Amino acid sequence: MTRIGHDSDHDVVVTPAGQRIGLSWSGLTDIGKRRAVNEDSLVTKPPIFAVADGMGGHSAGDVASAAVVTRLAGEAAARFTARGALDRALRRAVVDIERRAGHSDLGTGTTVTGVALTLVGDEPYWLVFNIGDSRVYRQTTSRGLERLTIDHSVVQELVDAGEITADEADGHPQSNIITRAVGFNELPVPDYRLVPLDPGSRLLLCSDGLTKEVGEKKIAAVLAHGRPASATAGDLVELALGGGGRDNVTVVVVDVAPFPGAAHGEG
Ligand code: MG
Repeated sequence: MTRIGHDSDHDVVVTPAGQRIGLSWSGLTDIGKRRAVNEDSLVTKPPIFAVADGMGGHSAGDVASAAVVTRLAGEAAARFTARGALDRALRRAVVDIERRAGHSDLGTGTTVTGVALTLVGDEPYWLVFNIGDSRVYRQTTSRGLERLTIDHSVVQELVDAGEITADEADGHPQSNIITRAVGFNELPVPDYRLVPLDPGSRLLLCSDGLTKEVGEKKIAAVLAHGRPASATAGDLVELALGGGGRDNVTVVVVDVAPFPGAAHGEG
């Protein structure tokens, strides 16, 4: 496990147009109850927040997830970043993984998902990215919980094909098989999505150690409860452990404060 960055209960990002965005966040990871090694990693360093879930024998997954969050953190020098920088960081991480983990029969790789502060013109947005089955969710009072990422997994393909329902996916025997990863000496292919920084909204980044143990209804209830980011992250990890803790579990909660001077809540 590699963690880069701290928690913050008050941070202000100023856009080139002078808009002030209040952020608070908290990241938490736990080895869980069954695994010998925590192969998840995380970075909480604006403009980048990300979670990576490594896989591979003999702790190679730890090397892979560490390489990804380290390269992403290397792009965190500026207040805002862009897709090209993230692509570059992920390509460099693949080279790092190959160099450090070497070849194993099963190969070495990692998922990654996260959000990065980016600008479209003068407007701030979250650039949501993912490879694999770690996820980003958004909670708003108007829309409730929304999953912003689409898993790259065999069961997601079965759901898309109408062969199983979303409810059947979680307990499916092939639920651990992902169809895209960072590593395996392949060009990383992230999905990207732009999401506005809605004031009062809350983001959750997590590894599958959360979502395989805790249903989305329960996740939504915890996020909507309104406790601070750090307490909310703790509540989610506790639920995953209570649900069995079969895997490493990592969560990052990011809150966007109402814009100073804004008339009212979220957009
Ligand atoms: Mg996992």
